[in-house]
Amino acid sequence: MKLYNTLTRMLDELVPIEGNHVRMYTCGPTVYDYAHIGNYRAYVFEDLLRRYLKYSGYRVTQVMNLTDVDDKTIRGALQSNVSLDDYTRKFKEAFFSDLKALNIEPAEHYPAATAHIPEMIVLIAKLVEKGYAYKSDDGSVYFSIAKFKDYGKLAHLDMSGLRAGARVAQDEYEKESAADFALWKAYDEKDGNVVWDSPWGRGRPGWHIECSAMSMKYLGETFDLHTGGIDNIFPHHEDEIAQSEAATGRPFVNYWMHCAHLVVDGRKMSKSLGNFHTLRDIFARGYSGREVRYVLISAQYSQTLNFSFTALDGARASLARLDEFSDRLADAAGGADGLLSDLPAWAQKAQHGFKTALDNDLNMPEALACIFDMVHEGNRALNSGSTDGKQAAAVLKLLGEFDRVLGLLGKVGSEVNDAVTKLVEERQEARKARNWAESDRLRNEIMKLGWEVKDTPQGPKLKRL
Ligand SMILES: [Zn+2]
Repeated sequence: MKLYNTLTRMLDELVPIEGNHVRMYTCGPTVYDYAHIGNYRAYVFEDLLRRYLKYSGYRVTQVMNLTDVDDKTIRGALQSNVSLDDYTRKFKEAFFSDLKALNIEPAEHYPAATAHIPEMIVLIAKLVEKGYAYKSDDGSVYFSIAKFKDYGKLAHLDMSGLRAGARVAQDEYEKESAADFALWKAYDEKDGNVVWDSPWGRGRPGWHIECSAMSMKYLGETFDLHTGGIDNIFPHHEDEIAQSEAATGRPFVNYWMHCAHLVVDGRKMSKSLGNFHTLRDIFARGYSGREVRYVLISAQYSQTLNFSFTALDGARASLARLDEFSDRLADAAGGADGLLSDLPAWAQKAQHGFKTALDNDLNMPEALACIFDMVHEGNRALNSGSTDGKQAAAVLKLLGEFDRVLGLLGKVGSEVNDAVTKLVEERQEARKARNWAESDRLRNEIMKLGWEVKDTPQGPKLKRL
């Protein structure tokens, strides 16, 4: 499998450090607000990567941090006049419910920054001891970028104009202001009651040190893959590399992958343009998690993705084609067990094409094209009756294999809400009791909610109206 590595700027062959075990770290949300659709593009890309690694036979250990202390979370808590903990809890819960709605597989670890302050202090102490960090007059601790000769290697910075000793205190800044950055921030009144003791006095960690401390705690001093959005390259990931490699004297991460921006209707998302969408807003317009997921995976991760409601309508139509094909195969298979060795030639071609596309830097547009070619060929074969039950079952199985990566078919899941599920269950009870009048009444209730229920030998199936 080849991946575009931001560090080398090449398509590199993936070779894990330890056999077939891939250890990966993904920068998680800063829980100061509801995440928007652009944030979810990165999380869905990482989910796709994780799923494809597993599909390819790797074992994956993924860590995603939760930044629950930084400039933005503290500001939010103070403005709402609640504790930092109470303030971030709501957004943590919303985040996990959104992950479920988008059918994103859970990572193995979700460390929260506030639960890892001692680890950060140990790491900062090591940097001070080795001479890479120093205490400033106000009691903050800064990383000296001039001391780390590889500074700038990820973002490919030209460091020749560096102003030695210049400092930047805030967590986010531009490349042009590359300077010594804060590892530990001395207490400031603006921090309210968010404060910890340290060898350098009271204060709190900077944002970047959080990810170095937590990634190395769970994945070791050198691990395979680190991902994030393109915005994370500088300063966040550049600073992570500097802190980690200066402290350990070893390479931090072998492969860095970054997903590109998401724009809405061709423009940068912004609250003032009214094109700033959270998942909640999109669901309120009647779209499902599955449809959003489809749009997010359908573009190549390294290309800018243009999100629009037209694209969501297109996703609905594409998913309907897949569902319909899957239903037809199930009918033709008649309950036979599928064996991939029985695949007809047109499905073998898709199986091969899918893998070739994704092995090439996760080329999802091409992988989806292979699947839709298969749907086209398959429908023709089903129309002409040239596919037998065993073959149909085999193609159905292949579709299930693809879906280990896509996460789109499976059970209707996320887009059927609890109310519909409950009605379907009640209807099943009514049918068991041979109460047909009640069963029909419930069918109508379900239709009012936008779903048609079909009774199949495998049980009730739902189809969007
Ligand atoms: Zn991070």
